[in-house]
Amino acid sequence: MTLFIFYPSKMNSLFTDPLIHIKDKDTVKRKISKFSLDKLQIVSDFDSTITQDNGHTSWSLFSKSWLMPDEYIKERDDYFKYYYPFEIDATLSFEKKDFLMREWWTKHLELFIKYKLNINIIDKIIQKDSFVDFRHWMKEFMDISATLNIPFIILSAWITNTINEFLSYKEAQFDNIHIVSNELKFDNDWFCVGINKDIIIHSENKDEHDMPAHIQEMVKWKTDIILLWDSLTDTKMIDEELREWALKIWFLAEMKNHSKDKFMDSFDIVIASNYDSLRVPEMVLELIK
Ligand SMILES: [Mg+2]
Repeated sequence: MTLFIFYPSKMNSLFTDPLIHIKDKDTVKRKISKFSLDKLQIVSDFDSTITQDNGHTSWSLFSKSWLMPDEYIKERDDYFKYYYPFEIDATLSFEKKDFLMREWWTKHLELFIKYKLNINIIDKIIQKDSFVDFRHWMKEFMDISATLNIPFIILSAWITNTINEFLSYKEAQFDNIHIVSNELKFDNDWFCVGINKDIIIHSENKDEHDMPAHIQEMVKWKTDIILLWDSLTDTKMIDEELREWALKIWFLAEMKNHSKDKFMDSFDIVIASNYDSLRVPEMVLELIK
């Protein structure tokens, strides 16, 4: 049912805000009007999508917090200098990049074990407000998704324990939220001893097909999808051929010097702000309601 005609002001602000870029307004209107709440799921990246893009990304927080030993910071920085150029190298094949990123994530995990990462450090990092915070209006968006009981899947190369601590600290830990990422395993004294599964999720292999069976089963009938992304590798999160009607919302990270025109060809809605969602996800839900 086409509900957007009942919310002209909301649809207008979606289409008139100078920081919200939509190349094909008709397609966006068509997708939103086709969606229904009972068939809807949200699939979102975490780092710089749910959170603000403030330069403190994912695993780097452990060295930036200065809560880990100097030796850890040095070894971590050496890995970063070696592997990061590969991560942003668009000329590398998927296989090569996949191998290198897996190697990087594994070596970093080994540093957590070697330097005895304690779970308290995760709590302290998250509770330091300058490190991680919600993109403006994302908390409100998650609140509404919980009220409407829409499955909200966070697919991330981050650490599950950190995401959980963040959501708990920010009072956004809801039953409709499912986190698919790397869950650290701790011993009885709460020192890290590894992760809870065989596959490490890194920047190149986030994929809906690798989601746990119980989550795949739960969302099997949720054919309408809102996707929230900020990185080109995030596009591999879903099977695009199967997801023709997915509404693709893209947060353009100005810091990374991306050209908005390039992304407007591939994504339905491009938001040009590092800190603000400009209420777009919330407005889309309102229009579907
Ligand atoms: Mg991201």
